[in-house]
Amino acid sequence: MSKQPSSYLSSKLEGRLKADKSGNSIFALKPIKKGELIAVFGGVVYEWETFIHLPERERSLCLQVEDRHFLVPRPIGEGDFVNHSCNPNAGLSGQIGLVAMRDIQIGEEVCFDYAMCDTMPYDEFDCLCGAPNCRRRVSGNDWQRPELQKRYAGFFSPHVQRRIDAQKAERRAFERAMREKTRSYAGKVATPSVAFK
Ligand SMILES: [Zn+2]
Repeated sequence: MSKQPSSYLSSKLEGRLKADKSGNSIFALKPIKKGELIAVFGGVVYEWETFIHLPERERSLCLQVEDRHFLVPRPIGEGDFVNHSCNPNAGLSGQIGLVAMRDIQIGEEVCFDYAMCDTMPYDEFDCLCGAPNCRRRVSGNDWQRPELQKRYAGFFSPHVQRRIDAQKAERRAFERAMREKTRSYAGKVATPSVAFK
């Protein structure tokens, strides 16, 4: 059997141990243009009920690809060492593609924001990404934050985008119902004021 990693990493990048030895990361070896493909994640897909019992190491390297489905790399490769940042330079393209959100220089670490794919509480942690806008805590609910929805528009996994769209539709329907209620209330109070004239 081939030992080829299940995930693809562009030859313009390499995975290596961070200088402070805090973990593995991927770094640009060559300049990468905005929109360029960086990685394509692969592996074995598990449903939540099975996935949650896998060893922590496997769970931490996985990618949530559907509401209750998780892609676990096997065999693990350099492409699976992409870390989270609250100020990422890469975002998702579809369920398993990773693309540059802006031009990336040689030597830069490439990260994406886990809010782009996570909706379940399987990989929550205190964030030490060091970005000025770091939100300190990464959770499975971060996709609901309006500022992130705006900043990452076009870079969410399709299953997250569906939930964002549903949430927006729900909010619009609620606002419409409130407007109609206000209008019918205004209609009711208008009648006596006419009678006073
Ligand atoms: Zn952070």
